[in-house]
Amino acid sequence: MKINIEEKSGFCYGVVRVIEMAEGILDKGEELYCLGQIVHNELEVERLVKKGLKIIEVSELHRIKNSKILFRAHGEPPSSYEIAERNGLTIIDGTCPIVNRIQKSILSGKTEKNSLIVVFGKKNHPEVQGLLGQIPEKTQVISSKEEVSMLPESQIIHLYSQTTMDKGAFNEIAEMINKKQNNEGGKLILHNTICGHVSHRRPGLQKFAAENDLIIFVGGKYSSNGKILFQTCLEQNPNSFYIGSPDEIEAFWLAGADSVGIAGATSTPHWQINDTKLWIEKLLGAK
Ligand code: SF4
Repeated sequence: MKINIEEKSGFCYGVVRVIEMAEGILDKGEELYCLGQIVHNELEVERLVKKGLKIIEVSELHRIKNSKILFRAHGEPPSSYEIAERNGLTIIDGTCPIVNRIQKSILSGKTEKNSLIVVFGKKNHPEVQGLLGQIPEKTQVISSKEEVSMLPESQIIHLYSQTTMDKGAFNEIAEMINKKQNNEGGKLILHNTICGHVSHRRPGLQKFAAENDLIIFVGGKYSSNGKILFQTCLEQNPNSFYIGSPDEIEAFWLAGADSVGIAGATSTPHWQINDTKLWIEKLLGAK
């Protein structure tokens, strides 16, 4: 059997950047807290925790004093910066520059009259929380087409998207809002904020999924981009499986396949892709 690895699998630029920041500090033996899971990949988080990274939740930020706190690539609302500064914490800001630009763009609409900021995304996703937190009083999140009906009419709507959402769904939502705002006082201003590191992977992934008999997709349980990219594989190849770690692979999945393709999310490290390949080789050798 041939085992192929999808060439673009592995960390995106924003995740590489924040992990390098964390390791740079941990390797010097310094104390480092991280607000939330540094990346939506359980095994990578485990690896960094073993190196000394201390993961805390927002509710615990109040009790940390005079230490270093890492803000992950998803970004944080202004309230997290305020608490950290009040507590004398040194902020290591790992906010992805792409997310940072979106936050600034949202904030620039603060004083605009008769406007509403709408973010298409998952309500509890940390990136969305960071975006909503820029101007909470005039920002609303929608997660589906059905929720467009909840938006007011005759308003200027600035539409943004969580960076890892599906482009097709975002375009449909934009079209629906555009129709709804096609009246006096209404207008849609579209901000295309889907990250190219996710959306540009789709064509290559579609081809890869179609070329292999079986697809093993490696991603974290809570990885949004992982779920979207896996869906891309599944649409092309129904023989696709999502795993969090190699030991979840069932030997019978491999039966009858001449080729297996391994792919991963933008939050999946290369070492995990390689471990998956080794695991499959071991399973095949054991047959
Ligand atoms: S997916 Fe895009 S926006 Fe998100 S961290 Fe990676 S590079 Fe940044």
